[in-house]
Amino acid sequence: MTETADVVIIGSGIVGSSVAYHLTEQGCTNVLVIEREAHQGKGSTGKSMGGVRAQFSTPVNIQMSRYSIDFFSRFDEVIGHPADYRAHGYLFCATNERHLEYLKANRERQTALGVKNVELVSREDIAKFVPQLRVDDIVGGTFCQTDGFVDPHSVMMGFMLKARERGARLWLGTQVTGIEVEPAITGTADGSPASGGADILPPHRLDPTRRISGVMTSRGFVSTHIVVNAAGPWAAEVARLAGAELPVQPLRRQLVPTEHIDGLPQRFPMVIDMSTGFHFRREGKGILLAWNDPAETPGFKTDFDPGFIEKILTHAASRVPRLAEAEVNPRRAWAGLYEMTPDHHAIIGPAPTVAGLYFVNGFSGHGVMHSPASGRITADLILHGHSDLIDAAQLNVERFAAGRLLEETAVL
Ligand SMILES: Cc1cc2nc3c(=O)[nH]c(=O)nc-3n(C[C@H](O)[C@H](O)[C@H](O)COP(=O)(O)OP(=O)(O)OC[C@H]3O[C@@H](n4cnc5c(N)ncnc54)[C@H](O)[C@@H]3O)c2cc1C
Repeated sequence: MTETADVVIIGSGIVGSSVAYHLTEQGCTNVLVIEREAHQGKGSTGKSMGGVRAQFSTPVNIQMSRYSIDFFSRFDEVIGHPADYRAHGYLFCATNERHLEYLKANRERQTALGVKNVELVSREDIAKFVPQLRVDDIVGGTFCQTDGFVDPHSVMMGFMLKARERGARLWLGTQVTGIEVEPAITGTADGSPASGGADILPPHRLDPTRRISGVMTSRGFVSTHIVVNAAGPWAAEVARLAGAELPVQPLRRQLVPTEHIDGLPQRFPMVIDMSTGFHFRREGKGILLAWNDPAETPGFKTDFDPGFIEKILTHAASRVPRLAEAEVNPRRAWAGLYEMTPDHHAIIGPAPTVAGLYFVNGFSGHGVMHSPASGRITADLILHGHSDLIDAAQLNVERFAAGRLLEETAVL
């Protein structure tokens, strides 16, 4: 017998799991999540630093963070599983007036959108958070207490456990090898669903000439009219299975944990040195160091480059001289893939050329923190054709062809 599902989600990382949760939350329970790995979290989700912040520059990112951080703060109660949300804050440190003005303008936008607890902080305030920081060139910054960290693996598991409790199915160790399309049935003039169309496929999504009829997997064919591409850095490949183009590129990102180090506070925020983009946070008894190497080029590179350690330690020691003595075991450092789009914003919404294909991709470093909002928006679009969380049209893939790019400059 052919397997059928109302919605097939490709990828069971934190984003696919959130989509499954939000669909089942809204009563759509015949959902099948397909994951090629034997376990969840083998993609970008398992490599993440777990940072969450509302301190963004564009309204859409601020709105998505606001919804998501509120969700994380209630996650344990709502989902019955821990998110390990720690409101330790994010501290942006500016070393020139241009950066400080930028932070102030962002803060005004954040406040206007309801994030009212972003504080302007002085050099002296900053020194109190981490007394070991070199602050002689710092001119000020911003701090938001409700920014902080979550455990990405735990959030992903929580979303999926709850979705499965409500009837969603998860196929592990199953690769999607093809997406089948057929000629589309056009919508009726009065907007009522076209006969023979999928029950939950909104009629206005039947405009394209082709529509989804199923997916081919290593376990056989699954009949469905709706497919969600939640394939993280592999999203462009998955889109191509349906003949659709998606501007998402993988970009290596490396993280370096130090061994046990004395002399820094046990608890402090994520600290961002805006002069270099170097940032760091506590990780157990050591410090987790992060820096976006501008020399990195797109590609599926997941090996850790030992040469990166010297580069990042140079930035670390310049901002926190104490870190010059930090010991690093290269075997504990790791690399993963960001899923980059040309404007560093996610792509969420229907594919314009294939009815029933939805994208929730290209988070450009923010997929963990925006997973609650992106799951909710995707479920809303599938089930109702719109979302009241944001104006979702801003994030559709057509923006690139139409030249409506969104520019987020606070990329970490
Ligand atoms: C080093 C690093 C640090 C980061 N730090 C942060 C941070 O601090 N905060 C933050 O918000 N974000 C951060 N990110 C980004 C974040 O991790 C990602 O945006 C997020 O995990 C994306 O989740 P996803 O579910 O879309 O993708 P993934 O977790 O990659 O999941 C996609 C899944 O799809 C599966 N798949 C792919 N193709 C197929 C197929 N054909 N058939 C079946 N299954 C398939 C894969 O196996 C994978 O499990 C970081 C990323 C990295 C690499």
